[in-house]
Amino acid sequence: MDREHTNGTARPDPRRRLPRTDAVLADPRLTAAAERLGRRLVKDAVTRAQGWARRNEIAPNDVVDAAVRSLPATAATPRRVINATGVLLHTNLGRAALSRAARQAVIAASGNTDIEFDLATGRRAPRGRSTVATLLSHVPAAQAAHVVNNGAAALALAATALAQDREIIVSRGELVEIGDGFRLPDLLVSTGARLREVGTTNRTTLADYAAAVGDRTGFILKIHPSNFRITGFTEDVGLPELATVGPLVVADIGSGLLHREPLLPDEPDADTWLRAGAALVTASGDKLLGGPQCGLLLGRADVVRPLAHHPLARALRVDKLTLAALEATLNNPDTPTRSALHTATRALRERAERLAASLVADGIPVRVVDSLAVVGGGGAPGVTLASVALSLPETFAARLRQGPTPVVGRVVEGRCLLDLRAVAPESDAGIAAAVRAAAARNASEPDRACT
Ligand SMILES: *Cc1c(COP(=O)(O)O)cnc(C)c1O
Repeated sequence: MDREHTNGTARPDPRRRLPRTDAVLADPRLTAAAERLGRRLVKDAVTRAQGWARRNEIAPNDVVDAAVRSLPATAATPRRVINATGVLLHTNLGRAALSRAARQAVIAASGNTDIEFDLATGRRAPRGRSTVATLLSHVPAAQAAHVVNNGAAALALAATALAQDREIIVSRGELVEIGDGFRLPDLLVSTGARLREVGTTNRTTLADYAAAVGDRTGFILKIHPSNFRITGFTEDVGLPELATVGPLVVADIGSGLLHREPLLPDEPDADTWLRAGAALVTASGDKLLGGPQCGLLLGRADVVRPLAHHPLARALRVDKLTLAALEATLNNPDTPTRSALHTATRALRERAERLAASLVADGIPVRVVDSLAVVGGGGAPGVTLASVALSLPETFAARLRQGPTPVVGRVVEGRCLLDLRAVAPESDAGIAAAVRAAAARNASEPDRACT
């Protein structure tokens, strides 16, 4: 396209006023950005901005500014986003945000580490031994623990090792879909286990379980319905009773709570369920535990140890970065997830009012409104948490998602709501900057921004 500018045509052409690409790229802000982000991203931004100028959406003089504004803050993908959805554990946004301690642990572990090496003897040592020891110190009722890639992997390993060519007895009320079309019954069957479904969607009794037990039984599975609730005429069997039936009881608690959480009284935790008679508990690391994506297996030593040595365990082996982040999370349980759950609504309102006052002073049409947050796919279905949001015109939603640091809110009845419950206070400045940038683009680039 640059050649067109240099081959001197006679006709007046608005494009001739466009600065040349190489001249634009020589701007110090863009050369600095190219060092940080790589040349290709910057060149793409310039081409994009030239397109806007060519279509008269911006003035030719604004090409550099527009290109700079449209650059992402970092080249890293997946991109960092601010979760203002009011969903504390949003699977599409990477579930739990790691604590500062866990982030530092990840960086520290990213070189070579003693992950499977004993520095005292100079010999091989069990992988992740210190993370497992820390995990056990938090769950006194567990004799042994093993960590795999996610909650689904934990369940797949249990089904493969304990019930291949055998039966898993499970209530029809607990055969859940965990999202994106993945269903736990399909996962279990894919391991070579057979499902022995008992009871009905709303009612399953101890007698239903007892009648299904036979020589083909691998284990009884109790799945916590973490993303829905059945209400009305219901009955299910608690763990203490299930443990009296005979076969091993495996419990998938989903949320990853290790101890009781008083704010979420209906959410199961590993320690309580093991005490109540489960031989094995499986859970996710990146839900209410607030750690990295991983799957926890906790329970009796004679059940967990063979799982850890099963051939499939090697395929589900967890990364050293994950082990480092998990251990740091366990040692510093004040995670962003925990703060999001526990922050007083009054504190959210103060932050919202401060933000709104500074934005209104710049002429941005923002209001502070009451909102309701939820825990999310990670647990506590049906529980709502009082919250506070900034309310902006709906057109802000797309602009905020496409800004240099994307902010993801939710659109409700024609308004873009930025719910502060899942936003860390240190991100408030980022929200203010993003809203200002979105308002500026609102004024200068209306056509593109509305698409
Ligand atoms: C989330 C969840 C899973 C899946 O765990 P992932 O870590 O997403 O693989 C399985 N079972 C239950 C009950 C869950 O809530």
